[in-house]
Amino acid sequence: MELTFWEIAQAVQATNDWKKWPNFEVVGVEFDSRKMKLGDLFVPLKGESDGHKFINGAIEKGAKATFWSWSEDLAPEGFPIIQVEDTLSAMQELAVYYVLKKAPSVIAITGSNGKTTTKDMTEAVLSEKFHTYKTQGNYNNDIGLPYTILQMPDNTEKLILEMGMDHAGEISFLSKLARPEVAAITMIGEAHVENLGSREGIAQTKMEIVAGLSLNGLLIVPENEPLLLPILKNVTQKVETFGLEKDADYTAETITLEKEKTIFRVKGLDSLFSIPVPGSYNVTNALIAIAIGRWYGLTEAEITRGLASFQLTKNRTEWLKSPEGIEILSDVYNANPTAMGLVLESFCQMPTTGNRVAVLGDMLELGPDEGEMHRSMSAFLNPSEISTVFVYGEVMKELYLELVGKYSPENLFYFTKEEKRELIDKLKTTLKANDMVVLKASNGMGLNQVVSELTS
Ligand code: ATP
Ligand code: MG
Repeated sequence: MELTFWEIAQAVQATNDWKKWPNFEVVGVEFDSRKMKLGDLFVPLKGESDGHKFINGAIEKGAKATFWSWSEDLAPEGFPIIQVEDTLSAMQELAVYYVLKKAPSVIAITGSNGKTTTKDMTEAVLSEKFHTYKTQGNYNNDIGLPYTILQMPDNTEKLILEMGMDHAGEISFLSKLARPEVAAITMIGEAHVENLGSREGIAQTKMEIVAGLSLNGLLIVPENEPLLLPILKNVTQKVETFGLEKDADYTAETITLEKEKTIFRVKGLDSLFSIPVPGSYNVTNALIAIAIGRWYGLTEAEITRGLASFQLTKNRTEWLKSPEGIEILSDVYNANPTAMGLVLESFCQMPTTGNRVAVLGDMLELGPDEGEMHRSMSAFLNPSEISTVFVYGEVMKELYLELVGKYSPENLFYFTKEEKRELIDKLKTTLKANDMVVLKASNGMGLNQVVSELTS
């Protein structure tokens, strides 16, 4: 990191006599004592248990200094501490200091869905020309984001950060912390509507990403989102739009959906773009990465190469095959109505010689309108396209009741969460070679277990 102990103490306004220790170089920052490396600074956070309790483990693993908010008497004898009121705030202040010092261009990605995918695509594109670093996995909150910044290698030119939230004010906080030059909103969905009241509330909170956006920076937003229009009026930065409709700044056209990849053109550009993931919603994610690539002066050839090399963070949408030859589209780690609708829509457009089957589980945390939102999935289910539907979970019962009549009893099945075993058994007897099955639900429904039983 090329930061010294004294420099860090000053950056976070330590309240103890830190100069009594000699100045030395700190190699990195770590809050999990088990992950500590030799020469690191330990950040004891207050989670389920207080990180201060693990100081001895951290020292054993190689910590050379620590933030400290307990009384100084409780600190290990002779060990360099940086006394602060709150260790998390200190880590955030240090991240602000570090990102200003290293001065990479910061790119911030938020939205209800597609953040991680877009972040990974953007990094794949920018890495064709620059030294890049990105949020690892899903480290997108008030702990993960400053942590990501502090892990950034010294030579980073472009830093791509995912910003997540479940309450108003969080994105604004993260944006002010990281001071992006480019900010993108992938889409406005229904995630966390329970805390935010409405989709208008969600749109407001996503727009908080402008709070720290550089005045000569760029804001990238979906074109077909009326909820953003009134808020966009107050934005003074440059705004670019993307979408599948004609008049966006970046408009995708002639989209070919294949099982393992998606090919498309962008209006006004020459290249044929190919992304190694299924789903039309991934085309809009890619449009953001293309817009950012163009903003930073990459050629179309560089952007095309970057997108082709992009790899999806593990465990999101993936195609698997069962030993019997059943094709499985597994998307079992998060769900909300918009995303579920889009996945079903793409699924229906993928060619197959067998039957298309859907396994749909509860979408959690949707608030008082959850019943209606589950019922609305009926619009994406037609017996001519998806022959059989397995409905799973308490709230999904609403969808089941909606589908009775539209689907005949031999093609429509309902299971409660407690009947997961029965669901698996029924799937195993129903599915045949060449059938294509999509599974989607919130992570809490445990459909990943169903997927692993089908594939083993
Ligand atoms: P999290 O809130 O868990 O961090 P995320 O916003 O990072 O989620 P991803 O991990 O990129 O989102 O994608 C999760 C799922 O959301 C995908 O598997 C897909 O079903 C859906 N999805 C991805 N992109 C979009 C999009 N642009 N619009 C709607 N749904 C999308
Ligand atoms: Mg994510």
